[in-house]
Amino acid sequence: MKPSSQALKHKSSHDTEREFGGTLGAVCIPIFLPLTVLFLISVSRSPEASVLQWPPPLPSSDQLWDPLALVILLGWIALHALLYLMPLGKVSEGLVLRDATRLKYPINGFHGLCISGVLLLLFLGLGAPLGYLFELLLPLAMCAIAVSFLFSVYLYIRSFWAPSHALALGGNTGNPLYDFFIGRELNPRIGNFDLKYFCELRPGLIGWVVINLGMLMKEVELRGSPSLAMILVNSFQLLYVADALWNEEAVLTTMDIVHDGFGFMLVFGDLAWVPFTYGLQAAFLVVHPQTLSSLGAAVIIALNGIGYYIFRKSNSQKNQFRRDPTHPSVARLETIATATGKRLLVSGWWGLVRHPNYLGDLLMALAWSLPCGFAHLLPYFYVIYFTVLLIHREDRDERQCRAKYGLAWDTYCRRVPYRIFPYIY
Ligand code: NDP
Repeated sequence: MKPSSQALKHKSSHDTEREFGGTLGAVCIPIFLPLTVLFLISVSRSPEASVLQWPPPLPSSDQLWDPLALVILLGWIALHALLYLMPLGKVSEGLVLRDATRLKYPINGFHGLCISGVLLLLFLGLGAPLGYLFELLLPLAMCAIAVSFLFSVYLYIRSFWAPSHALALGGNTGNPLYDFFIGRELNPRIGNFDLKYFCELRPGLIGWVVINLGMLMKEVELRGSPSLAMILVNSFQLLYVADALWNEEAVLTTMDIVHDGFGFMLVFGDLAWVPFTYGLQAAFLVVHPQTLSSLGAAVIIALNGIGYYIFRKSNSQKNQFRRDPTHPSVARLETIATATGKRLLVSGWWGLVRHPNYLGDLLMALAWSLPCGFAHLLPYFYVIYFTVLLIHREDRDERQCRAKYGLAWDTYCRRVPYRIFPYIY
């Protein structure tokens, strides 16, 4: 087979637009972010746990490699590929593609979470030392990084056989470094198996909460029982992951699935960045136990609850409105018309700020860090990083919405002047 010449020639007005710092970003980010993952894990287990300590606590090469880690990682991905293929749950259609077709997706991620949970409990019942994940964390991260690179190379090469309409508009600049990073093919599939959709919410996201459970079991090994702080971090993050999988269908309309190609940025984010940096608080707590008062715990639980409420309600309101604007729960909301025929909500959650779902997400992120106390910056890594990510994502989304809706978007911005934080930003 030869790469489609149409695919190689395909160009559109979007093709020249470069995100994430263009070629420089595409070269630096794949070097810098994997090193950041390894650095943060090393810092989380060092006695000082300081991101500023000098010299930095760099891992030795024998701390980075363990063949067991590779076996576990590949076994985990294979298990979830099998669960993906099981005829469980319903099948949904994605949005209409440029060739006017729609792809089908199995909505069975929540089943995958439950089945892997049951399997883990069985393993624990058989005496499997789940706490050993603490020792394996660096080799596991190293393997996830290596797998992300190899998988991205495979995706880049195979994209040259894809028809032009199957390429992401922003991933076909002709610059190999940038295209490798941002992703050329929009929905790479092997048969019916959708590689991007599979990676988006399954091995990495479920892997994250399994790693958290491993940290909790390590704490039990070391101190006899899990701390309140560890229980809160595990519960909050499990709620977040379970919610994402319960509402898996909503991912079909997100920027990642609809707009972005599948390249290093998403592969690494899904398989390495999320599972090994989002749960740093749990890894930190193994080495740096914290005592938490009942009042402190109650305040943190309330903050997480408020964040979750805003996050879930606002996401559900928009999803319901996009699916069926006549549904009684959204039919009375005030909207403005756009030239595309779609309407924009200007009351309800989406009349409070232009991204209420990001506001709720950030409140939860803060609640995940607070159980780790105030003496270290490291457990706050996620909320700081996530604030930057969501501000950048909001900006990307605004540009796409302005291009889509033109004057109507400007009217919406005038009606709802704040982006994420009411009266602040
Ligand atoms: P959003 O759910 O925020 O969707 C943005 C889209 O919503 C816009 O492109 C537009 O699309 C539509 N929209 C915007 N304003 C309105 C309005 N007023 N009325 C109706 N429709 C509107 O997208 P994201 O994918 O960024 O976020 C989804 C969730 O995922 C969020 O809760 C976010 O916090 C979370 N998230 C979490 C991440 C993590 O790492 N934990 C990473 C990224 C996101 P259109 O008009 O075409 O429908």
